[in-house]
Amino acid sequence: MITPTDDTPASAAACRPGCGACCIAPSISTPIPGMPDGNGKPAGMRCVQLDEDNLCRLFGDPRRPAVCERFGFDAALCGERREQALERIAALECATG
Ligand code: SF4
Ligand code: SF4
Repeated sequence: MITPTDDTPASAAACRPGCGACCIAPSISTPIPGMPDGNGKPAGMRCVQLDEDNLCRLFGDPRRPAVCERFGFDAALCGERREQALERIAALECATG
């Protein structure tokens, strides 16, 4: 059995379970259930719905923000490791402000 870790390389077109970089690095402007005042989140803040295994607690839940549903694996952005994804998404966030 393969247990995903932070260092699990991404396959050609699949999200790395346990990565969660896209739930930390980017800002999310739409409301996220459980975030203070029902807001989204600023860049670099861990989403309150990201569990200790870096999995979304709202996966499959209709309350999961639409923007999260739309964000898919992108090899150029996600890279091969979690750290790359954190850096690349943060850089994109800075570039697009
Ligand atoms: S950053 Fe990419 S690989 Fe990591 S959880 Fe998000 S979609 Fe998956
Ligand atoms: S709601 Fe789920 S998918 Fe969206 S940022 Fe939070 S943890 Fe990630």
